[in-house]
Amino acid sequence: MADPAAYQVVARRYRPQQFADLIGQEHVARGLAGAIDSGRVGHAYLFTGARGVGKTSAARIYAKALECTNRKSGEPCNLCERCQAISAGQDVDVIEIDAASNRGIDEIRQLRQNVAVRPASGNHKTYIIDEVHMLTREAFNALLKTLEEPPPHVKFVLCTTEPEKLPITILSRCQRFDFQSVDTVAIAQRLAQIVESEGLTVAPAALELIARRAAGSMRDSQSLLEQLFGIAAGDKKNIELEDVHAITGTGKDEKVGELAQALINRDSPAALSALHECLTQGADAGGVLEQLLTALRNCLVASVGCGPETFIGSTSCGVDFAELGKQAGTATMLAMLQIIDHSLARMRLSTHTTVLAEMAIVRLAALEDLDNLSEIISGIQPTEEKKQPLRHEKKKLTPTTNQKADKADQTAPATSSSVKAKTPNSWTADKTTTPSVGAEPLVIWKNAGELVGGLASDFAAMAASVSQEASHFKIEFPASAGSATAFLSRNEITKQFQSALETLTGQSCRYSVVLQEKGTTNSSGSIPAQNGSSSKPSTPSKKTVISSAGLLKETVQNPLVSHALTTFDAAIRKVDPPRKPVNSHQDMGEAEETNTEESGAT
Ligand SMILES: [Zn+2]
Repeated sequence: MADPAAYQVVARRYRPQQFADLIGQEHVARGLAGAIDSGRVGHAYLFTGARGVGKTSAARIYAKALECTNRKSGEPCNLCERCQAISAGQDVDVIEIDAASNRGIDEIRQLRQNVAVRPASGNHKTYIIDEVHMLTREAFNALLKTLEEPPPHVKFVLCTTEPEKLPITILSRCQRFDFQSVDTVAIAQRLAQIVESEGLTVAPAALELIARRAAGSMRDSQSLLEQLFGIAAGDKKNIELEDVHAITGTGKDEKVGELAQALINRDSPAALSALHECLTQGADAGGVLEQLLTALRNCLVASVGCGPETFIGSTSCGVDFAELGKQAGTATMLAMLQIIDHSLARMRLSTHTTVLAEMAIVRLAALEDLDNLSEIISGIQPTEEKKQPLRHEKKKLTPTTNQKADKADQTAPATSSSVKAKTPNSWTADKTTTPSVGAEPLVIWKNAGELVGGLASDFAAMAASVSQEASHFKIEFPASAGSATAFLSRNEITKQFQSALETLTGQSCRYSVVLQEKGTTNSSGSIPAQNGSSSKPSTPSKKTVISSAGLLKETVQNPLVSHALTTFDAAIRKVDPPRKPVNSHQDMGEAEETNTEESGAT
């Protein structure tokens, strides 16, 4: 390019200019063009979908189509004065607001004042608000007033990647279009067209890899292509697969396949050498671990019977995914994926990424055969409590050092308390997390938990039922979920939940948490939230005092414990008194675990 200032990035130069250009969003294009063509245009639209799939492009096309003086079948002509002004971003009647940087009440007040003013040159004023979920609550309230009664010449297009963060009051006033992630093949085809018009040559395998790396985002794929064009400057006109690996920091697929195979063979030296080969060829440690995550994920889905159409990324990596998955076993695969995911999270915050990747590789290669362990443990469960094996494994087979110790020293008496505590805990976890019938307040409550995030979302998900009266939510928890109610009653947590509920419902909310009585679904024995609770605590639960001899006796009589003692040839060394009153074996198991087991996440 002769003039650097005049250079436009690929994603802008090849931005879709009419509905028919929207790749992978045919349903949206048809709906919008049809509405404009037939004159049935809504006053507010909500475009949702992942980033880079064409939401704001569609919004601009919509604005053009409304104003175009030479429109055909709902499509803008792109030739008339209005079309060209809007395409160039110079039309004063099409106003784009980035809510990520203008999230306050002042910007929306300004908008409300301007809304009343007639359009300068055309018939409509179109407001495109990008990342609308970033608006503050006050700004949403101000926007709501305009959305309720907009002047007839005003149209809104709200775009967001996170529609669940919008108040229901806003959602209910918009016609919603969900944009899909763009299919890899469609992205590769579009990239091929762009490459051709740029007069360059890119190997098809390279285009396919870019399309895969973009993971459904057309804009990301074009940014990657742009980087490749930088490489192609000068004499070099052909872009190869290696060039893509170089800019994305990924390793060759076959090397990743070798790495996966070595890990499943528990061959640390071979695995480390495969990693290092990728690194010396220019890959970065995080990129390789991400590829490994994808490859092992493919092994997992293949091992349970899914076909190549469900694979992500490379469809083979030079290995047989199904065969590898079966060789490793489901529980082991799940544990491996968790270790990699955990390592990737740590690598994002660290500068020692190579060391962390090596640690992950060594840990993966040293992982015990968890499916074998799973069989041993399932052998000690009372038959009526046996469930789907896969569901169980997910709950209990997190790769903790304790489990490895259990396996290694399974005949040592010292580990018996840890072993027997684990199994009852996995039942209670299964029971308490089973969602009840999907009433709407329950969904709101769980979404609020997701918004608060972390431990809060796990505890919120344990709710058995949720009822709502006006702005007051009453959340009932299973009797065994005392820790959840205690956590959710904490002052700072209460505040976070109230704010999350407010975001979701658009009104200020209160909530109270109560424990269900054991064996019933009636609510009583409530633990009120400290803040804004209306329910009163019932009679204090009776304190049960059990002597250590009685405790030992009861523990030995527990059928589960006796199974565990036989299976592991173990003996009870010590029983710690539970922290909570003991009313059932389940509770006791839970309490024991809290007391005897150290948290051992790797
Ligand atoms: Zn036009």
